[in-house]
Amino acid sequence: CGIVGYIGRRDVAPLLLEGLQRLEYRGYDSAGIVVSSPKTAGLKMVKAKGRVRDLEAKVPARFKGTTGIAHTRWATHGAPSDVNAHPHMSADLKVAVVHNGIIDNASDLRRKLEADGVEFLSETDTEVLVHLVARAQAEKLEDKVREALRVVEGTYGIAVMHADFNDRIVVARNGSPVVLGIGEKEMFVASDIAALVAHTRQIVTLDDGEMATLKADDFRTYTTEGTRTTAEPTTVEWEA
Ligand code: GLU
Repeated sequence: CGIVGYIGRRDVAPLLLEGLQRLEYRGYDSAGIVVSSPKTAGLKMVKAKGRVRDLEAKVPARFKGTTGIAHTRWATHGAPSDVNAHPHMSADLKVAVVHNGIIDNASDLRRKLEADGVEFLSETDTEVLVHLVARAQAEKLEDKVREALRVVEGTYGIAVMHADFNDRIVVARNGSPVVLGIGEKEMFVASDIAALVAHTRQIVTLDDGEMATLKADDFRTYTTEGTRTTAEPTTVEWEA
């Protein structure tokens, strides 16, 4: 339902929780957040059924990071629960994905992955994306995500983090909105500009079939086939 992400220098958890609150008007049944910091290894995750403030109450005092993705879920596949809340992570805790939309061939993909020995933790359609990215052969994160999306049918706005590529967030859009917020040595992503305008008015709206890589001081956009696309930020007017 709602996606917010950030990469920069600020303490990311409060920033993302505030972003999620700005998306609350859309309705949701659960929420979650993953953060990483260049100083400590790995990704840290907290999820909760219920309101954003229920999530906030579960976030430990030491949940520091400068990169993160967060989500409010409106369940389509799998009941609202802590486990089914996004982000979803691979068993080795390296890959984290938040997803808006519906993967139409999820049960088919799930069956194939399970036959291959993959253990699923949730009932969501989204989780297939996590395992597809985690098992992708490509070296670069962008290519891993592209490899995963090649076999997926349906709608998505996604944001992906990977512990081995902690200088970036990779996002993709097909039928579910993704907007980038361009800052000074910091970048934002969201499913709705309402989550961004408190921080930047410089916006890039992705098209269907488009992806982006966000780094703290740089971003680039390209098609799911890998061709670079031009993305000139536009300044949005917004009554706060
Ligand atoms: N289909 C996904 C799920 O049920 C995402 C739902 C959403 O857009 O929030 O978990």
